[in-house]
Amino acid sequence: MNSIKENERADVIVLGGGLAGLTLAIQLRQARPDTSVVVLERGRPPFPDAAFKIGESTVEIGGQYLVRLLGEDYLERHQIRKSGPRFYFPSQRNEDITTRLEYGTTDFLPIHSYQIDRGRLENELWARAREHGADVREACKVLEVTLAEGDALHEVAYERGGERRVLQGRWVVDATGRAGLLKRKLGLERPSPHKAGAAWWRIQAKTDVNTWSSSEQWRGLAPNGHRYRATSHLMGDGYWVWIIPLPSGGSSFGIVAHPDYHRFNDYRTFDRALNWLRQHEPQCAQVIESQRHQLLDFAAIRHYSYGAERVFSPQRWALVGEAGVFIDPFLSPGTDFIAIGNTMVTTMVCKQLDGEPYAHYVEFANATYLQLYQLLLPWFEALYPTLGRKQAMVLWVAWYFAMYMSIPATLFLHDRIANMEFMSTMQGEIGRLAQLAARGIALLKEFGDRFDEPDAARFVNLSALEHLIALQRELCGANAEKLDDEGVRALVHRNLEMLEATLIEYFDRIAAALEIHPGTRNINPYAVSLDPERWAEDGLEHTHDARREDVASSIRALWYSS
Ligand SMILES: Cc1cc2nc3c(=O)[nH]c(=O)nc-3n(C[C@H](O)[C@H](O)[C@H](O)COP(=O)(O)OP(=O)(O)OC[C@H]3O[C@@H](n4cnc5c(N)ncnc54)[C@H](O)[C@@H]3O)c2cc1C
Repeated sequence: MNSIKENERADVIVLGGGLAGLTLAIQLRQARPDTSVVVLERGRPPFPDAAFKIGESTVEIGGQYLVRLLGEDYLERHQIRKSGPRFYFPSQRNEDITTRLEYGTTDFLPIHSYQIDRGRLENELWARAREHGADVREACKVLEVTLAEGDALHEVAYERGGERRVLQGRWVVDATGRAGLLKRKLGLERPSPHKAGAAWWRIQAKTDVNTWSSSEQWRGLAPNGHRYRATSHLMGDGYWVWIIPLPSGGSSFGIVAHPDYHRFNDYRTFDRALNWLRQHEPQCAQVIESQRHQLLDFAAIRHYSYGAERVFSPQRWALVGEAGVFIDPFLSPGTDFIAIGNTMVTTMVCKQLDGEPYAHYVEFANATYLQLYQLLLPWFEALYPTLGRKQAMVLWVAWYFAMYMSIPATLFLHDRIANMEFMSTMQGEIGRLAQLAARGIALLKEFGDRFDEPDAARFVNLSALEHLIALQRELCGANAEKLDDEGVRALVHRNLEMLEATLIEYFDRIAAALEIHPGTRNINPYAVSLDPERWAEDGLEHTHDARREDVASSIRALWYSS
């Protein structure tokens, strides 16, 4: 192979032009238009509709990140506005959707998020990145990265049209997804203790769960296409199955399961996955069987979760998107991690190129990003045994949603999550969130194990969580007031009090359902557990009653079983 040394230099070389790499290129050019950005992507657009990459559902942070980069108009016209998550819990043999406990929204959530056709999105991102002046190069396979010491430029060798070329850059950002080129070279991969696996496929046919029954009464529970636009989750012991509508008209399906409950071997090919569905989700299997001639693709991963020793370095390199860490696809945090990581990388690159001190910022960002990974990992590890437990999962989802909106989403939407000065004053609040999260998740796991729940063909309305809907309204659109640091801090404090009150309410109800009696009304939310022997030592009795009537009445609808 010929080797050509290019004279070109770039401020930032992005390895891989997928979701993370292309959004970063746009963000960098928007933040600092003088920055020269080269993206090296081995693929060649235009990319196909539907069967391209995985990661088709977004939630609030990732959805709003895309809105900021591409504009709401593009997303509303070319992708599908998502109608929240929707869950169908097990009932009998899962042959009749109307007998399953259903949990979802009755309207769009105030903060919009989207179901994404990845091929379509990445074609748009290519065009936008180029419009913004990024040099996005197709059919360029990155071969090697040589990192330089001190102020010298890094070198990236890549192959294009049978020639080896070398490019120099001030920063190198690895956005090669699971290939994790730089992470592997530097030996930064870390195994994750979370061992779940997944299989997924796309079908060029519309799947609307609303058509799975002709019952008018059942259909009336979700008018206006909300069942179709949602991410549907068919839930069972140790697994969930996703159904996502694709803007190009097809559907994405996935089985996600923990090996303690389901062997990967049983769903790792399409035929096996279909057999697996016949056994666990027969109604869904029937739908897929009738559409199998329109199958577009199939893929599977035995263990999808992994960590990293470091993701950002003062030596002027960074790992973004799946090239860094990945926890779990449940409730779609993948694009959120891209949004947060890219925002941090944009900040550190701008600081360095503007000649400001940046090393301290890089260390902050690295620690904060990995802290988020460490905070979330145990929630998802503890989740899989509870997936088929209806009442515990209804509470779990509302708890996750409350925590997510209260701090990470509030800080992201108020542009503080990548702000070192602000975040370094928030460690106490983050610590409180981590403690509440851990208590809540452990409580719900144990509740799931112990509670003998009734079967109920009910609908539990996520849109009835008025305090969270109100919080979303405050954070979006015309209502989104620009707050100063004190204002954001006050909002976080108010949200933490709301979380504390939620956990006390959960504890009250769970203790009553399991017939255990704490013997005090003043409950310390940082000490709740279902182990009476720990109560005194943990300090379950509080100095005051921290309940809140607004929270209690808002979450009342979650107790479908009482
Ligand atoms: C089962 C599963 C379900 C998921 N569901 C969701 C979801 O619903 N929502 C969500 O937000 N996230 C989801 N995710 C995560 C989602 O996949 C990621 O957030 C997202 O796709 C990562 O984007 P990326 O840019 O990091 O990687 P990719 O989009 O994979 O991009 C990497 C790019 O690098 C290129 N590349 C690789 N090697 C080279 C090389 N040597 N030279 C040049 N280019 C190279 C590739 O061609 C590719 O274009 C899911 C993940 C899994 C495993």
